[in-house]
Amino acid sequence: MIEMSKDIADFDDVPGNWLCLDFTHTLQNRYNAQRHELLNSYRDLLAWGLYMRILTEEEAQQLLHIAEQYPQEALKTFNDAVSLREAIYRIFYNIAEDSIQQQDDLALLNTMLAQAMSRACIVAEQDSFSLDWCVDNDAERLQRIPWLAVRSAADLLTSDKLHEVRACAAGDCRWLFLDISKNHSRRWCDMQTCGNQAKARRHYSRRKSVSL
Ligand SMILES: [Zn+2]
Repeated sequence: MIEMSKDIADFDDVPGNWLCLDFTHTLQNRYNAQRHELLNSYRDLLAWGLYMRILTEEEAQQLLHIAEQYPQEALKTFNDAVSLREAIYRIFYNIAEDSIQQQDDLALLNTMLAQAMSRACIVAEQDSFSLDWCVDNDAERLQRIPWLAVRSAADLLTSDKLHEVRACAAGDCRWLFLDISKNHSRRWCDMQTCGNQAKARRHYSRRKSVSL
């Protein structure tokens, strides 16, 4: 068995966030020189799935095994997943900033949504039913994570939570999150990190201006 849990240390998420928004956090410091890509291979995609608990360790191992059998399909799935992530980021960033949507981004999202939904099926569980994917070949099974991400994006785009999407006010962060605060005034993805940094910056500039 390949140890995958150690690969997940770098990932981060916003508690209570939607999966599609947390997916966009796998590129950190998007807008500055410290830009840090956390997804560099199909294996990284699986590690993120483990971190987000959308895959069990057993499922991740199975998918890793399939990826080794179908390296070209795994590489294509990985590249498509990163393109999807960037389209999701731009779509929701534009919503947060009231900017115009790029038709290319919606087209890419719709192409992947159509693929995912063409394999969607309802599965009976003990006391309920769930939406899953019924695929009849291993190469398609590789797409589980991008399909979960695109479904999450479609759900959020069509939900009444859409107007709560925000981009973190810290210029070097710009992470996407849902503002579920009572008066819809949350500005930072995380008060402990970006919020405190902004406060520290304000404090520093105030001190500076006083000493001048
Ligand atoms: Zn932030």
